[in-house]
Amino acid sequence: MIQKLKLANLPTRIIKAERLSQEWGVNLYIKRDDQTGSEISGNKIRKLEYLLKEAVDKNYDTIITTGGIQSNHCRATAAAATMLGMKSELLLRVNEPPKTEGNFFLDKLFGAGINFCTPDEYRESRDEIMRSMADKLDNKGRKCYVIPEGASNALGSLGYYSAMEEIAAQEKEMGVKFDVVVVAVGSGGTYSGLCTANKELNLNKRVIGFAVCDDREYFTARIDKINREAAEIMNLRSEMNPSDIEINDKYVGVGYAISRPEELDFIAKVSSAEALVLDPVYTGKAMFGLYNEIKEGNVPRGSNVLFIHTGGLFGLFPKQDQFEF
Ligand SMILES: *Cc1c(COP(=O)(O)O)cnc(C)c1O
Repeated sequence: MIQKLKLANLPTRIIKAERLSQEWGVNLYIKRDDQTGSEISGNKIRKLEYLLKEAVDKNYDTIITTGGIQSNHCRATAAAATMLGMKSELLLRVNEPPKTEGNFFLDKLFGAGINFCTPDEYRESRDEIMRSMADKLDNKGRKCYVIPEGASNALGSLGYYSAMEEIAAQEKEMGVKFDVVVVAVGSGGTYSGLCTANKELNLNKRVIGFAVCDDREYFTARIDKINREAAEIMNLRSEMNPSDIEINDKYVGVGYAISRPEELDFIAKVSSAEALVLDPVYTGKAMFGLYNEIKEGNVPRGSNVLFIHTGGLFGLFPKQDQFEF
């Protein structure tokens, strides 16, 4: 079995959203992966537990990774690196000089080295830029471990393979069987782990991934690649196929990290119904998608639905001025 570090507070709780269940006509359960920690909160730490284990074992002293300016992944990586006595260097995508707020503020508090790139550079050559950052630091005597966007590679996806095992154990304890598992998809590693475990362990669930950027074709190909590589490193029996993947791209909205008024109204509605705070970039869009798919009959009434709350709270505060009350 592939080993990992223990950094997150696991297992995370599963709660039932009573009022939304009533209103929507399904049994809506929430897995609180927003509570994996505070500094390291959210889904990325489950993936980082595997990647950072390799970094620790191989004596790396600096972690390099990349994401948007309000990246939860970069913030969690910076926090985890500091906890492990390592340094971190972040490559952050920006349009204009950023305000020091939300996750970016925390990156600085955790002492991360900050490097910027443009959206074009990010799209075309983020991995090459990180490699050259690593080479420069390695030449000065550091030993750099490079983690891809979202920690979404085969090793990282094991974090959500394990999370699905955790869910299966919680089902037994709770005496509930989840028919549908719902998660936001940004770089694909979270969905990949859930989907691979679902097949390998014969859990027979429908796993729906709501895209928050790009489209269905893009994510199906990207996740299929991670699934196959993960199946290989774990020596799984199952052969993974694109038909195992269900991505819904109808709720991307205006684009990555851009909110429509109806999405923000929806976040406010869920908060006031359940004291459950979604984030504008990922979970807000995914649950808005789930709500609409239930309304349209694409998720049957009476289903037991498990929504994975993947975190992102710190990204809400930079958007607070866009809310109307
Ligand atoms: C990164 C992230 C996701 C998406 O996970 P991926 O593995 O990148 O697809 C969902 N929710 C939050 C809050 C995230 O930070």
